[in-house]
Parts: sequence; C-alpha cells; structure tokens
Amino acid sequence: MKMNHVTSAAEYVNAERLQELFLELAKINAPSTKEQLVAEYLKEALPKLGFTMEFDKAHENFEGEVGNLIAWREGTDPSIPPLFFSTHMDTVLPTEGLKPVIKDGVIYSDGTTILGADDRAALAAYLEAIQAIIDSGVPHGPIEFILTVNEQPGLVGATYMDYSKAKSKTGYIFDSSGDVGQIILKGPYSSRIWMEVQGKAAHIALNAEEGKSAILIAAEGLAKMRLGEIDDETLANIGIIRGGELTSIIPGSVTIAGEVRSFSKDKLYAQLKQMEEVMQQAAEKNGGKVQVRIEKKYLGFDIPKDDILVKTVEEAAKNIKVNSYLTETLGGADTNVLNENGLTCLTLGLGFQNIHSFRECISIENLVNTGRLTAALIEQWYANHKNSY
Ligand SMILES: [Zn+2]
Repeated sequence: MKMNHVTSAAEYVNAERLQELFLELAKINAPSTKEQLVAEYLKEALPKLGFTMEFDKAHENFEGEVGNLIAWREGTDPSIPPLFFSTHMDTVLPTEGLKPVIKDGVIYSDGTTILGADDRAALAAYLEAIQAIIDSGVPHGPIEFILTVNEQPGLVGATYMDYSKAKSKTGYIFDSSGDVGQIILKGPYSSRIWMEVQGKAAHIALNAEEGKSAILIAAEGLAKMRLGEIDDETLANIGIIRGGELTSIIPGSVTIAGEVRSFSKDKLYAQLKQMEEVMQQAAEKNGGKVQVRIEKKYLGFDIPKDDILVKTVEEAAKNIKVNSYLTETLGGADTNVLNENGLTCLTLGLGFQNIHSFRECISIENLVNTGRLTAALIEQWYANHKNSY
C-alpha cells in the first residue's frame, strides 16, 4: 500500500535521460512546415506515456507536412481542471547533421548548424516530466499537450489551429531565454501596416515634367514618421521598401511596409494612425495617393499577478528551489495567439541562448530545471485545486 508521499515528482526527473532525450529530439530535422519527422517520433512516444492524440489540418493553409498535434492524458483525478503545456515542433533552421558539443555544463552545436534548443528543449522536458509523474505515482489532473507547427515564421500553425480540439483552458509555454523561473505576464499587440504610395511614372529624358516620384513622396512621409522606441511600451519599424523599375524612370509607385508593437491597444492604434497620416499628407502635398492596409499580427495578453497560473509557478519553483521572477516581453509568441483563442497561458523561461544562430546553447542546469519545473507545476496545480474544495 502506498503511504503519504515524501518525495515530489520533480525528484523523479532523470537528468541523464532528459539530456539524451533532448539530443535525440534536437537531431530530428524538422524546420518550419516540415515537421513530419518530429510528428512521427511523437506518434511513437506519446502513447507510451499514456496520451491519446490528434492532428488538426492547419498545415493545409500553408502547404506544411503535418498539422498541430493535440494530445490528451487522463489524470488520476478527473475533477481537477486540465492543464496544458505547449511548444512548437518546428525549428527555425534545419538541424540535420547536428553534432552536439558539451562544454562546462553547456550544450552547443559544433557551430555548423543551430542546436534546436528552441524549442526541442521544452519538448524533451515535457516528455521527461510526464515520465517522472508516472514514476512518482503522485496524484494529478488531466494533462494536454498542444504542439504547434510553423511557429517560427510568425505563429502560423497556432493561427490556423482547430481550437475545438483542445479540451483545456489554462496552461504554460516554455519558450523564452530567461533562466528557468522566468514568468512572462505580458505580451504585445502587434499589427503590420502596408502603404502603397502612388505618384506618376515618366521617363527622365522624354516626359519628366509629367512625372511624380513615388519614392520621393514616400521619403517625405518617412522623414516625418515616428519610428523606433515610441515610448516604454511601444515600438514601430519600417522594414520593407519595394518599388522602381529602371534608373531612367521616375517611379510611379512604391510599397512601404512596417509593423507596430505595443502593450497598449490604444497606443498601437495611435501609432499606426500617425504613420498613415504623415504618408497621406506627403502624398496630398505632392499630387500623389496612398492606399493603406493594416493587418493584425496578434493580440496582446496581460495575466494578472494574482492569477492561479502565476501563483502555481511561484509555488512550484519554490518547491524545487528555483527563484521565480516576473517579466514582460515585446516579442511575439504562440502565447499571444493561444490567449486570443481562449486558452489562457503564460510564457516561461527555459534559458536557451543565442537562438536562431549557430551559437545557440542551453545549460544542462536549465534543461533539467525545465523538466523539474514542469513536473512540479503538474503537482502544484493539483494541490492548488484540491485545496480549494
Ligand atoms: Zn521558440
């Protein structure tokens, strides 16, 4: 007969097994839209951990190999609200031929590929944490994995996800560079702005007097545009200029595109408006025209400090002797898209560094702590709901 638990599930996280699992997953070559191989791996691994699983058809919207994976595992106590853990299955670049190098407790690639710690480290930690939950025999609620495809180019898989397949409403996404213990409460609103500036095309030697340079109109507008750090919660950037045909032609049109991010929806709109207005004024003054299109990238999220999701991380971190700390980010993540679709969640740090580069790395300490914190979260989530009865 099992007596009261003297140990926690986190103590069952096996550091060596987790490290091996991470390297195995990182070596699976599955960059954005080509996630088939990692999906195949999970089709084998998840049922062994007690999960049933489904794929949606998100990939049909962008010619990907496979859809988002939603996997479900019953808990020992079905009265506990299910908790989800999410990450993306894709890596930003291929990891084919990955040769891991371990130096002073830190895992790197050999410098010829990325490491893929973003975010195979989270995936490995989730799998190891479930094994630890099973081995420890601790009581727990249902657990769901929401594993997206095509995240790196702009949260595409999450945008096209079939949210009717997800049964849980609350969860966590380990996908940030802060050491384990980092809690990101707040993410930005973000929109793109496209401005088609019209002048009038003409040849400099034949009919220059009829020409109105769209490039010069755009330049005048851009010179008056507020860009960069607008205030401490708003950023604006112009990232694309496309136009012109020949050096002898006064250009009749040019496309200017950029994006704005802000924690405040009002500030986002005010900034987009300023960008549009200065371009309209420049066009009007010079006899041109502008067509503006604003495209939502994602909505912001703002989880209160006293939310049970936050409290649970703080307590779980304390249980495994990790310091937790609250932060916010102007970076976008699946967290934005999931929150927008009714899945309340936070981003957590797992300590990967130099991601999207060949210098990418993660310390073994952070990798193992990600596994330990995941297990501790499942255990603490159960405790917090059990106590509330
Ligand atoms: Zn990531």
